[in-house]
Amino acid sequence: MKNLICIFLLIILISGCKQKEQQKNDYPIQPVSSQNVELTDNFWSKRITTNRDVTIPYCFEKCEETHRIANFEVAGGLVDGTFEGIRFNDSDVFKIMEGAAYSLQQKYDPKLDEYLDDLIFKIAAAQENDGYLYTIRTIKGDSAMTEREGKERWVEERNHSHELYNVGHMYEAAVAHYNATGKTNFLDIAIKNAELINSVYGPDKRHDAPGHQEIEIGLTKLYRTTGEKKYLDLARFFLNERGKSNKRNYASTDQYENGSYWQDHKPVIEQDEAVGHAVRAVYMYSGMADVAALTGNQEYINAINKIWENVVGKKYYITGGIGAMYEGENFGENYYLPNRAYNETCAAIANVFWNQRMFLMSGDSKYIDVLERTLYNAVLPGISFEGNTFFYPNVLEFDGKDPFNQGATERKPWFDCSCCPSNLSRFIPAVPNYIYAQKENEIFVNLFAASKTSFEVKKQKFRIEQETKYPWEGNVKFKIVTEEPVKFNFKIRVPGWAVNKPVPSDLYSYINEPSKDVRLFINNQPEKFTVVNGYISLNKSWKDGDLVELVLPMETKKVIPNENIKEIAGKVAIERGPILYCAEQVDNPEGVLNKAIDSQIVFTPKYDSTFLQGVVKLETDSLTLIPYYAWSHRGLGEMEVWFRKAPPSLSKGRPGGAVNHILIEGDNLHALTALTFTHEGQIDVIYIDPPYNTGNKDFKYNDSFVDREDSYRHSKWLSFMDKRLRIAKRLLSEKGVVFISIDDYEQATLKLLCD
Ligand SMILES: [Zn+2]
Repeated sequence: MKNLICIFLLIILISGCKQKEQQKNDYPIQPVSSQNVELTDNFWSKRITTNRDVTIPYCFEKCEETHRIANFEVAGGLVDGTFEGIRFNDSDVFKIMEGAAYSLQQKYDPKLDEYLDDLIFKIAAAQENDGYLYTIRTIKGDSAMTEREGKERWVEERNHSHELYNVGHMYEAAVAHYNATGKTNFLDIAIKNAELINSVYGPDKRHDAPGHQEIEIGLTKLYRTTGEKKYLDLARFFLNERGKSNKRNYASTDQYENGSYWQDHKPVIEQDEAVGHAVRAVYMYSGMADVAALTGNQEYINAINKIWENVVGKKYYITGGIGAMYEGENFGENYYLPNRAYNETCAAIANVFWNQRMFLMSGDSKYIDVLERTLYNAVLPGISFEGNTFFYPNVLEFDGKDPFNQGATERKPWFDCSCCPSNLSRFIPAVPNYIYAQKENEIFVNLFAASKTSFEVKKQKFRIEQETKYPWEGNVKFKIVTEEPVKFNFKIRVPGWAVNKPVPSDLYSYINEPSKDVRLFINNQPEKFTVVNGYISLNKSWKDGDLVELVLPMETKKVIPNENIKEIAGKVAIERGPILYCAEQVDNPEGVLNKAIDSQIVFTPKYDSTFLQGVVKLETDSLTLIPYYAWSHRGLGEMEVWFRKAPPSLSKGRPGGAVNHILIEGDNLHALTALTFTHEGQIDVIYIDPPYNTGNKDFKYNDSFVDREDSYRHSKWLSFMDKRLRIAKRLLSEKGVVFISIDDYEQATLKLLCD
C-alpha cells in the first residue's frame, strides 16, 4: 500500500508540472479544495455523510436496477441483452461516479474504489474502438435509432441526441476519479473519447453546437488535467458554433425553430438574456466562464455579466431557484415567477456552479450571495434528509394534492430521467469546496460552517479553525493556528442579507430595517471595518491563537417582491439569515394557503435539535414556520412561502365603534392595488374624479398620455376605469358608497361597467 501511494503521488506530481508549464491563465481566485477542509459542523457534515452512506450506494443500486449499468455491459459484449432506458442515461452513471470519487477523496473506502474500477472496466468495454461512447447506438445500431438519437453518429447532436452531453459528464467524472485515486483507467477512456471528438469536430471539420451543453465544462477540466490545449480550443469552438447554423430559422418565434431552446439563437457573445432550457443555459454560462478564465476572452465575460444581471434582476426566485417553466424546463419571460415553479434541482446546482465561477473571476461577494441563497433554499430541498428521495421541480406553494414532482406529490425515489438525483450525489460532497477561496496572500471566507482548513501562503502553512452554529446563529469565530506568524489578507464575506440586501438586484427587498449592525472583534476587541466588494479585509501579520469574530445580525426579516412579479405582488415571505421559511399544514392545521401575515407580526425563533434534523423554527400565536428546505418530510398537506399581508391593526378597532378617518389619495394604480392588501372591505367612501373629466389635460393610460384625437380614446378610458372600479369593489365596506364625477356622455358606459 505504501508503495502504491508513492506511485500515485509521483503521477500527480508529474502531471502537476506539465499543467503548470502549459497552462498560465485560469481563474485569478482558486477555491480551497475540500481535501483541505475538515468539516466539524452539524449541518453539512450530516448531509455529506448521508450522501456517502446512503445516496451514492442507493443511486448505483438504482442504476443497476434500471439497466443503466447493464447498458455498458451489453454494449461491451460482456453480457447478452439489449438497451433499456433513455439515450442519456449513461450520464447518470458518470455523475454518480464523480460523486463517488469526491467521496473517496474525503474518506477512502476500498470497496467503493473497487466498485468504481469494476464500473470503469465495463465502460471501457462499451467504448468503441475509435473512442465513441454512446451505449444506445452501440447496442442497437444506427438503423434502430429514432430521430432523437439520429440515424448516424452526430447528425442529431445539435438537437436531442446528447452524445456530447453524456461524455462531457464522463470527462468530469474521469478527472475527479484521477484526482481522487491517481489512477488513469477512467481518464484514459475520457482522453480516447476526446481525441475522437477532436478528430470529428473543428473549424475545418464537422460543425455543431452541442444540443445539451456540458462537454464545454468537461473539456476545460480535461485541459487543466492533461495540459492539452486542443481540449480548451475544442470547448471554445463548441461555444462559438452557437447561433450560426443554417439548420435553424432565426427569424422564427418558435424556440425549437429559432434555436433559443438550446441557446443556439444567437452567437454566445451577443446573448444578453437567459432563455430556453435552464440547465442547458447555465451549464453553458459556466462553460463560457471557464473558457474566459483560461483564455482571457473579455467578450464572453461581457455576455455572461449581462445574462447574470438579467437572471438575478428578473428571473430569479426568492429560493434561489431558476427556470420557471414546466414547458421545456425553460426560463420564463422577465418577471414571470409563478409559485408553481419548475425550478429544476439541476438548474439550482448549475446556478451554484455558475456563480462560483463568476466569483472566482471577480472577487465580488454578490455572486456568493446568490450561491448561498441557492445552496440552502434551492439545491437542498431537492433531497430528503434520508438521502434517497428527490424533488425534480421545486414549487413555492402546494395544495397537498398537485402531483407537481413528475407525477408525485412528494419527493420520489427515482425518475425515468434521473438527472437530479445523480446531480445531487456529486454536488453534496463538493460543498466544502465553496467555503474558502484563495488568491496568493488573500484568503476569502465565503460560506460559514464549522471547519478546520489548511492553507499555504508563500510556502508557509497554517490553519484556520472556524467555529459557528450557522445557519442558526450569526456568530462566527476564526482561530488562526500557525507555528510562525503569517502575513495574509483575511477577507471575510459580509452576506447581503446581513446588510439589508437579500439579493444583488431590486427583485426582492426587506421591509424591516436591521436593528443590529454587523460587528467584528479581533482578539475580543471591537474592530472598525469597511466593506469592499462585500468583504471585510484584514491585512496583517497573524500569530498563533489570533481570534477573529464576526457577528451577523440573525434577525427575522420580511421580504417583499418587486411589483412586476404579478403572482406574488403585495405578498410577503419570511427569512432568517440565509434561510427562507415556509408554512406547512402539519404545523398549522387550519391550512396555510390563505394565511395572512400582519406587517407588525413578531416571530419567536426557537432552535429544536430533535425537529427536522435540528432547525430554528419561527413561531407566533397563530403561525409556525419551518425552513423551506425541510418541507415535505411529514406527510401531505398545504405549503406556502408567500403570504398575503393582513390588514393593519386599525381594522381591529372598528367593530367597537371606533372611527378611523383616513383620507387616501390614490392617483397611481399600483398604490391603489396595494390598498387591497391593507384595506380590503374597509373603505366607506370612494370618490373617483377621472382625469378624463378635467378638460384641461388628457389622461394617462399605461404611462402615456392619451391624445384628444386618439381614436381608441374611448376604449382606453373604459379599460382605465375598469381596473379602478374592480379595486374599488374590493375596498368598499358593506355600507360603502362610491361617487364618480362624470359627464352625461359617459354615463351609460359607466353604468354598464359598474353593473
Ligand atoms: Zn435534473
